[in-house]
Amino acid sequence: MTISGIYRKLIFIYYALKPFRAGMVINQFVRRLLSLFSVESGFRIIDLSIGYKCNLKCDHCSATGLEHDAPSLTLNDYRRIVREAEGLGNLSWNITGGEPLMVDWLDDLIQILNPSKNYISLQTNCMLLTRKRAVALKNAGVNCITTSLDSHDPETHNRFRGNPLSYEKVISGIRYAKEAGMQVLVGGTVTHDNIKSPELKLLIEMVNSLGAMFLFNLAVPCGSWQNNHDIIITAKDRLYLQKLLRRYPASSTDHEPGRNSVGCPAGMEKIYITPGGDVLPCPFIHVSFGNVREVPLSEIVQKMRRVPQFGSYPEICVAAEDPFFHKDVFPVIAESQTGQGAVPCEAVFKSVFSGDKDA
Ligand code: SF4
Repeated sequence: MTISGIYRKLIFIYYALKPFRAGMVINQFVRRLLSLFSVESGFRIIDLSIGYKCNLKCDHCSATGLEHDAPSLTLNDYRRIVREAEGLGNLSWNITGGEPLMVDWLDDLIQILNPSKNYISLQTNCMLLTRKRAVALKNAGVNCITTSLDSHDPETHNRFRGNPLSYEKVISGIRYAKEAGMQVLVGGTVTHDNIKSPELKLLIEMVNSLGAMFLFNLAVPCGSWQNNHDIIITAKDRLYLQKLLRRYPASSTDHEPGRNSVGCPAGMEKIYITPGGDVLPCPFIHVSFGNVREVPLSEIVQKMRRVPQFGSYPEICVAAEDPFFHKDVFPVIAESQTGQGAVPCEAVFKSVFSGDKDA
């Protein structure tokens, strides 16, 4: 392993353990050890979207198309989901939205997620993240604030986000989170056009200089980018991405740090649960494999893993790079998604589920 590789591993370990809580550290350590010896192959992370209300209107929001008026999960539903997920070996929760800081029962939910044992991150646009709120979140058990920056240039970022204050709020939010003792992960969208640009390097360097880790979010041709195939990264871009990962050790993709293996974690190590309880493989793939109100999580996951991409660890980002998804999956989702949220898996992966009696 190279020096940069060792440094990356140390950074990931540091991220997985800070702020230090003995119960969480032991849980992480034991579960990862079990994975190493193939005794357990549980989840690394579950995204919980707790509502689509938001105070920004971003150009490429991954929640576009998922909003509908199904009743939201209750705190009791979440208690059950946490028990089921822990039974499946889940290690961490990512609370997302919409904007989770607009949800008034957020603090109750954080306690239900069992912060003494589990790693908790909160994805926010930082518009409501004050110094006081950051300290309160850290004290409630949040380990990491996840946010997004589209550019190192304030005007470009604010244009994407449709708000002149967004950049300033993200920068102050990162500072407040760091001061409070939390980790910070900053996602930036990577397209075919910007992957080799000096601007992307400036963005990564700026994020790292604030003490935060950079997450490469690969552009996905869905939602407002549905027909924009120019944004998709190519095989050559993917090789260049590996170079960037080596050059910037405090940067990552969704592929690492893998719990059981390295690769796209959708279905194997990661799922996304909508505010109404539908279970999706990833926030960009709006296909439901069942609803946690009706079916146990373990059954939903088994069903999801019957789709080959979600029962393995593809080397690519399935949503951003798999031509089958671009040609045969996203168009079906776009056609079927008529304000009713995620599309049932039977309508999208017909060849996988055609033999099922209720398909
Ligand atoms: S398809 Fe896989 S790698 Fe791509 S965003 Fe979804 S979970 Fe992450």
